[in-house]
Amino acid sequence: MSHAILKALGLSDVNSGTYLGRGEWSSASAGRITPKNPTTNEVIATVEATTAADYETVIARAQEVFKIWRTTPAPRRGEAIRLCGEALRRNKDALGSLVALEMGKSKPEGDGEVQEMIDIADFAVGQSRMMYGYTMHSERPGHRMYDQYHPLGLVGIISAFNFPVAVWSWNSFLAAVCGDICIWKPSNKVPLSAIAAMKVCNEALREGGFPDLFFLINDVDHSLAETLVDDRRVGLISFTGSTRVGRRVNERVAHRMGRCLLELGGNNAIILDETADLKLAVPGIVFGAVGTAGQRCTTTRRLIVHESIYDNVLATLVKAYRQVETKIGDPTDPANLMGPLNSPEAVDEFLAAIEKAKASGGTVETGGTRIDRPGNFVLPAIVTGLKNADEIVQHETFAPILYVMKFKTLDEAIDMQNGVPQGLSSSIFTTNLKSAERFLSAAGSDCGIANVNIGTSGAEIGGAFGGEKDTGGGRESGSDAWKVYMRRQTNTINYSDSLPLAQGIKFDL
Ligand code: NAD
Repeated sequence: MSHAILKALGLSDVNSGTYLGRGEWSSASAGRITPKNPTTNEVIATVEATTAADYETVIARAQEVFKIWRTTPAPRRGEAIRLCGEALRRNKDALGSLVALEMGKSKPEGDGEVQEMIDIADFAVGQSRMMYGYTMHSERPGHRMYDQYHPLGLVGIISAFNFPVAVWSWNSFLAAVCGDICIWKPSNKVPLSAIAAMKVCNEALREGGFPDLFFLINDVDHSLAETLVDDRRVGLISFTGSTRVGRRVNERVAHRMGRCLLELGGNNAIILDETADLKLAVPGIVFGAVGTAGQRCTTTRRLIVHESIYDNVLATLVKAYRQVETKIGDPTDPANLMGPLNSPEAVDEFLAAIEKAKASGGTVETGGTRIDRPGNFVLPAIVTGLKNADEIVQHETFAPILYVMKFKTLDEAIDMQNGVPQGLSSSIFTTNLKSAERFLSAAGSDCGIANVNIGTSGAEIGGAFGGEKDTGGGRESGSDAWKVYMRRQTNTINYSDSLPLAQGIKFDL
């Protein structure tokens, strides 16, 4: 099965241990990376890691390509990304299967991740003709002022294991139309998905007569990632991962006065008020909490329910979870709704969080145990009886645990929603217009994403994606997120015959 998926993507020689995709990240070996299938914990293939010398080669090549790419007209750069989008359309099924196999998310979610790549490619093509700056009226006669956006240079992308390919495309496709060259350090839990995505895109570029725009480094540990973070030749580090690592990355990039885009952990809540339409809310909560086995940054981790509907909602959810339990299994089988956790360590963290929840006075209403079969399978858990302020509720456990709590007033619910260190995604289910608007107002949710009558997970690429507080403050994907990949320049042109100074200053020689 895994061999067939790799073969469909032209990666059948990965097992030889000498696989060199375009991007040449390993002319010699710095060690071996052995991604495992989370369904069985068997090694899928062996990948040679990038050496320090290869890292220097990658940077040198990226700098060379940048010299050509920065002066290539932006709509022409868009054409390059259009070709990548087309190639991804052709390879969607195989790449979606590889993501499901290596990461452990369900096949529809694997395909959905590739669809996000296609969507952002389309978006980037349009963006390539819409990189607008302002024109300003100068206070001086015979002067013209405007601002424009130039390519930033090299962009380092460090990504998390749970979105092995989409996060790279959110960054790299926009960065490419902006004129930048990207160097990607994927999670070493999912290197095959990264190699395959790069191969599909760089081959499409080559066939279209474009240079290689995308470079890859496969780090055996975190040493090259740290080199990238500290590298002054890299203007922007876009980091997606845990708050713990992101905080360190931010400090190091700030020290060298580089630019950092941070997409870190979430602790996302749904509020259900007494008017909520449960036909919408229940599937939204269940998908949000158990989809991707609770391993999305936007996973629903807390449910804040009005006391008048609490008992009914809890009973309905427990019933729905029991249905999900019958559809947990191999994620490459499209019939399954939930796959495994990505690693045995993640199972240990899940079980430790359940024990901590119990020790804090929580009741496990359903799930919370390991499934007795090969691989990293668990039963998703619903936990009640804890307070929002409890340490375990404040913490992002990257696994399917939903803490359900009660509220009396909307003010109290919004305080609970906001009362965590993270600030990524949030939502309210209500049919009361005033409550919806209150939740979206300046006195409402403090998150980067705030939804009404849809859940916390599953963002569209058209909006700016990211969150506040410990989530890091970055925004990527849609809206005007492209601006972070460019440097802004203000230009003033004097076409008069005199030299008036700004602010009316006189300086007569
Ligand atoms: P992680 O922080 O362990 O690793 C993320 C990346 O950082 C990996 O590529 C890893 O190899 C690299 N890394 C590790 N140590 C490093 C170091 N010292 N210097 C530089 N890079 C280093 O996160 P993970 O377990 O892969 O992913 C799960 C986390 O990512 C969760 O917290 C989740 O919420 C978050 N996440 C956030 C978003 C978002 O958009 N906000 C999206 C996906 C995942």
